[in-house]
Amino acid sequence: MAKVLCVLYDDPVDGYPPSYARDDIPALDHYPGGQTLPSPQAIDFRPGELLGSVSGELGLRKLLEERGHTFVVTSDKDGPNSAFERELPTADIVISQPFWPAYLTAERIAKAPSLRLAITAGIGSDHVDLQAASEKGLTVAEITYSNSISVSEHVVMMILALVRNYIPSNQTVIRGGWNIADCVERSYDLEGMAVGTVGAGRIGTAVLRRLKAFDVKLHYTDRHRLPESVERELDLTFHPNAESLVSVCDVVTMNAPLHPETEHMLNDALIAKMKRGAYLVNTARGKICDRDAVVRALESGQLAGYAGDVWFPQPAPRDHPWRTMPHQGMTPHVSGTSLSAQARYAAGVREILECWFDGRPIREEYLIVDRGMLAGAGAHSYSTGNTTAGSEEAERFKEN
Ligand code: NDP
Repeated sequence: MAKVLCVLYDDPVDGYPPSYARDDIPALDHYPGGQTLPSPQAIDFRPGELLGSVSGELGLRKLLEERGHTFVVTSDKDGPNSAFERELPTADIVISQPFWPAYLTAERIAKAPSLRLAITAGIGSDHVDLQAASEKGLTVAEITYSNSISVSEHVVMMILALVRNYIPSNQTVIRGGWNIADCVERSYDLEGMAVGTVGAGRIGTAVLRRLKAFDVKLHYTDRHRLPESVERELDLTFHPNAESLVSVCDVVTMNAPLHPETEHMLNDALIAKMKRGAYLVNTARGKICDRDAVVRALESGQLAGYAGDVWFPQPAPRDHPWRTMPHQGMTPHVSGTSLSAQARYAAGVREILECWFDGRPIREEYLIVDRGMLAGAGAHSYSTGNTTAGSEEAERFKEN
């Protein structure tokens, strides 16, 4: 029998919700391009419930306990005295969400002799030291596509919010004000602007498709070129690298995974190549940007705005400069964990667990590392190496 250790974010401050704003969520048939939705044998939750917090338990307790496994759920993930570190040495399977990541560093992996499987409830397994996981022969899997469209909607929202200066205007009415000039002195139309994505995978392509309707000029760069038919349909300009893309774009959105190739890609040098007054939206991973370079660029005016929901580490320390830098639309890491997305990735985690326990193969598209080798989605989009360095700083959030 296995011990499954699951790290989820805390319940709402006022307690687990007794009811919800809406009675249902739309039932989808498949993802764009035809990939089928998660297909576990059953689910023990109602789609639309809060599943990603500790009391939601990703809807897994009944399944795991009926099969005789031990299921430990905690939000206490950082530092040597955390529940996660206490439970890890006897865990066989770890489940974690990128929004509240249980960093699986090489040191932690070394302390977990029984660990065989790390499941990311969502997309993006950079909180796992993939190099160490590979060397240890682990399997790492994530729920590919589960929240890609959720994030693409968020990216479009953030681009519009920055360009049109929505958030400061909203704050004006909350403060009882009405000074229109203050609201519009930084407000523009998106129409006609050049918008580019670094990374044109599931999210990046969905962003391009959604932005097409805004009559913007669309640009992208990626390690693999999109099919010619898609380039023609969306009237895309391909760039061989990020330098070329950022030099012509008014808005840049980051949609590549964090791996050694993309870590700190957005640094002083690359930001200096952007047009003065460009906007940057990053919902991919905080560490893709150099933290202080972003602050400097907003303060100098090189960037007109920055928005995103991803930080490093997470939770961000209370004195993280992105909380207070000017012209920003930052939120905690929320774009991929709408209630709609939770229903999909909770079902996907269950599908992976059923496969694992029944000895059936995990879908190729969910695999990042398969018993020690980059595989499936991982082999396509990641490079080996480690991006977890510095994650111990997440413990500082517990201070005060
Ligand atoms: P995909 O794997 O579908 O797309 C990622 C794309 O990035 C791929 O096309 C890949 O290229 C490309 N890429 C990789 N390295 C580079 C590089 N150095 N330069 C340019 N492009 C590169 O993933 P998704 O679109 O579904 O997700 C992307 C990322 O978004 C995730 O890895 C995760 O970090 C983040 N994310 C954030 C969420 C949130 O809640 N904020 C939720 C979900 C995801 P190729 O495969 O062609 O080599």
